[in-house]
Amino acid sequence: MEFKNKKYKLSSKLVFYFTVVILVGIITIGVVVNLIIESKFADYVSNKNEQDIINIIEDIELLYKGDIWNKRDINDIGKKALNNGMILDIYDKNKNLVWSAMKFNKKKCHQVRGNIENNMDGRYSKWSDEYREDIFELENNGENIGYINIGYYGTTYYLDSEIGFLDDINKVILIVAGILIVISIIVAILISKSIANPIAKVSEMAKIIEEGNYDNKINYESQIIEVDNLVHSINNLADNLNKQEILRKRLTTDVAHELRTPLTSIQTHLEAILDGIWEPTTNRISGINEEVVRLVSLVNKLSSLSRFESGNEKLSISKIDLSSLVENIIYNLDSDAINKNINIKYEKEQIYVNLDKEKISQVLVNLISNAIRYTEDGGLVDIKLYKDDSSIYISVKDNGIGIPEDDLKHIFERFYRVDKSRNKSTGGIGVGLTISKAIVNSHKGNIYAKSKIGEGSEFIVSIANNL
Ligand code: ADP
Repeated sequence: MEFKNKKYKLSSKLVFYFTVVILVGIITIGVVVNLIIESKFADYVSNKNEQDIINIIEDIELLYKGDIWNKRDINDIGKKALNNGMILDIYDKNKNLVWSAMKFNKKKCHQVRGNIENNMDGRYSKWSDEYREDIFELENNGENIGYINIGYYGTTYYLDSEIGFLDDINKVILIVAGILIVISIIVAILISKSIANPIAKVSEMAKIIEEGNYDNKINYESQIIEVDNLVHSINNLADNLNKQEILRKRLTTDVAHELRTPLTSIQTHLEAILDGIWEPTTNRISGINEEVVRLVSLVNKLSSLSRFESGNEKLSISKIDLSSLVENIIYNLDSDAINKNINIKYEKEQIYVNLDKEKISQVLVNLISNAIRYTEDGGLVDIKLYKDDSSIYISVKDNGIGIPEDDLKHIFERFYRVDKSRNKSTGGIGVGLTISKAIVNSHKGNIYAKSKIGEGSEFIVSIANNL
């Protein structure tokens, strides 16, 4: 159990697995090569011995000339056969002994047999070929001229020289396997290090980022694509954490500022009234009420955002007349547009669609009021409503201040504002678009923005018309 939970360095694990694979591979190859060589060699020896018997018989038959055996040559053949592990007895046609290996050299005969038995028993525990004797007829021109008795251990037996050959081959296999194992383990260590070292380096550098130094990018290039991807991801992660950290800090300042301004104003006005400096006129009380409304709207936005982010916001879908809804919203925001002498153009198409009316109104109010807010006096806001087979589209376009390219990809993030200085005349707290995107996404739709600095912006919402 303890072994299971133990942690190892990546390089040690790689070396271990590589070594196991190498050992198993090389040992398997060694054993298979050895078995093939032994089996081929046994075939070869067996064929050679069979051929030797045929040759011995033919050679002896040739030595019979005019009823006379050439005993000197028979002696040579018999000696040679004995050296090859065969014990011969040669008889004439009347079965009288002409030559006998046992008579020629009894001691050598026992020695040869003893050697073969040692060689084979020592090497092959299952060797069962027993010593046997076969008698063959000797012929000359189809006539019987005698008999030959060959004593031997079947056809598959090894002499000392053959055992020596097999031992040499096995030694070579062992040496080559040993050299291969050493070389492969060295290569395995090098490969393991080349894989593990970059990862170790990246994790060391990532630790610095983990400690909160988000500006500290990992500057490391390896030759492994996956490691490069990891470096890239960690750097992006650090970037994102950095941005979130900046947003979080800015949020605290922004919320504090947003709360402080109306609260201070309410406080001073109320104190003035309580101290009797101001009469509690309807005008003054409605001024205080406006600040309270600002506070309530801010708190509502924050709580709406938190509901969307925690996934607790449910949609209440019903069929609505979208063109009239847009018209009503434009009507409600008209006074803001008139104050800035902004012309609102509305190109409408009669569209009925299933939506959460209240939430989509929130999106439209946000987009149209942003268009008015971020467009200079005398500008134009152009609203279009159209559809195709699959979706309905709402486009809110203005010819206002525009959004810099670098900021464009961030404007839907929480608390992101292009104008970081908090300017009351142009500023919300940077959650309007985040909430809008969450609402559109919860309708399985999309929202995106196109913009050019100094030329204006266009926000396009698309929602599937089969909700
Ligand atoms: P805010 O309450 O600050 O308007 P939003 O989430 O609605 O927050 O918008 C985020 C930021 O995107 C704004 O602060 C503003 O800088 C930019 N923005 C949004 N709409 C427009 C627009 N129509 N023209 C230019 N900038 C825009």
